[in-house]
Amino acid sequence: MQLIWFRQDLRIADHTALWHATQAGPTIAVVFISPEQSILHHDAPVKNIFYLRQLESLKTQLETLNIPLIIQEVALWKDIPHALNQLCLALKIQCIHANVEIGVNELQRDFQVQKISEKNHIPLELYHDRTLFPVGSILNKSNLPYQVFGAFKKQCYEHLSISLPQCYPAIQTQQILNIDLSSYQTVIHFEQHYPDDAMTSLQQLWPVSEQYAFNLLDRFIHNDLAHYNTQRDFPNLNATSQLSPYLNIGVISIRQCLHAIFSTQQGHFHIDNSGQQTWLDELLWREFYQHILFHFPEISKDQPFKSNTNQLQWRQSEEDLMAWQQGQTGIPIVDAGMRQLLHTGWMHNRVRMIVAMFLSKNLLIDWRLGEAWFMQHLIDGDLAANNGGWQWCASTGTDAVPYFRIFNPVSQSQKFDANGDYIRKWVPELAHLDVKRIHDPFINHPNDSSLHYPKPIVDLKHSRIRAIQAFKSISSI
Ligand SMILES: Cc1cc2nc3c(=O)[nH]c(=O)nc-3n(C[C@H](O)[C@H](O)[C@H](O)COP(=O)(O)OP(=O)(O)OC[C@H]3O[C@@H](n4cnc5c(N)ncnc54)[C@H](O)[C@@H]3O)c2cc1C
Repeated sequence: MQLIWFRQDLRIADHTALWHATQAGPTIAVVFISPEQSILHHDAPVKNIFYLRQLESLKTQLETLNIPLIIQEVALWKDIPHALNQLCLALKIQCIHANVEIGVNELQRDFQVQKISEKNHIPLELYHDRTLFPVGSILNKSNLPYQVFGAFKKQCYEHLSISLPQCYPAIQTQQILNIDLSSYQTVIHFEQHYPDDAMTSLQQLWPVSEQYAFNLLDRFIHNDLAHYNTQRDFPNLNATSQLSPYLNIGVISIRQCLHAIFSTQQGHFHIDNSGQQTWLDELLWREFYQHILFHFPEISKDQPFKSNTNQLQWRQSEEDLMAWQQGQTGIPIVDAGMRQLLHTGWMHNRVRMIVAMFLSKNLLIDWRLGEAWFMQHLIDGDLAANNGGWQWCASTGTDAVPYFRIFNPVSQSQKFDANGDYIRKWVPELAHLDVKRIHDPFINHPNDSSLHYPKPIVDLKHSRIRAIQAFKSISSI
């Protein structure tokens, strides 16, 4: 009997470990839910519920293949090796199959499982699945990991031009297994995990199922891909794929996304337009940050990539931090983004950059506080991408933005939300303002007390200079 252990890969299509398990023989599936571990990882409730809902969907999908799914609850990952071992012995499992996960705790968990299972001669087979190229395989001429996206991307393009990583064939339905697994299940009352109405309506924004994710991809490829390069930066246009929550828990695979780009070219790697090129580059940014996390695990332990930035004197201001978190900074585009996050569990990429730079530069508040807040609220919270994004904006990361190039949030707003429609949607108290005033409501009306909106908590010009001085004062950045 084979065991497929699902983790952040809740799908049946193009699933490396599932394919290998079913090729090896009759298969049973298992998932461990670890609520306390999830708290330690700052996982957002919206993300946890999304995961559980997709798990229900996966269970149904597996039933069509006659693969039973056992769901067990253990408090922490350190409890998994023992629980898994018991299960394997009871079910006479010959081999455990799973896809590699690259976080420090994930690797440690799998190492512990491997130690126990080897003793019992039940190997844990791990497969690369989350990235296009196995982590550790994209190295420079000196056999060292790339630290700059441009060079990393170039090598990825070289690999892709030789051959595209192929998707796995569909899984065949297996014979029904006559085993009663009820005693191995933790009964999960899914509905208990959907705490309140607000959370339920939030979930309606993010339907689950592989078919839904696939349709989303298909719609994006046919309607938006060709204009992606020109429209992706405008938060009001919804011109990006919004696939990040689905990619993050593996409802869709990165290979499926890659092949969709070239679907009109019989799957040949041939860039026809800038939309294709730009979207592929974004998939490669995801790839880059996954590889960075693998090679430089210290970044997941609150360490900046550039260690000298540890010397930065961050400001401590609970009040400013709270204003930022709640979307009450008095800078409309920042508040719109932060409120979009609170209301939907997601934020547009351009606005993520604006709010992250505002926190780490204008407010000079430690980027790690922003990183944690994002993780606690994002439905697509992913350690590698979130950390990479934050360190890029805070100028502490791999090929981060130079510290003196600080976005002016008002100019960004005028450029990327010119009509103010995104602001109107998320900051309704400013909806009546005209396009000139909406980006900076108090600039020519400093004493207007009729607006039910806070005045800016920081002066953009002075705070920019303060940030540049703070960065200049630390040794060679
Ligand atoms: C401060 C900050 C924090 C971020 N935190 C996360 C996070 O926790 N999880 C996450 O998935 N992305 C994160 N991103 C990257 C990016 O904002 C989101 O991936 C993107 O907004 C998701 O929307 P989409 O699916 O419509 O993307 P699309 O534009 O359609 O891109 C397709 C896919 O490519 C990947 N991708 C796109 N841009 C990036 C990028 N810059 N870095 C890494 N991957 C990318 C995502 O998987 C995305 O779904 C962060 C960016 C910043 C600046």
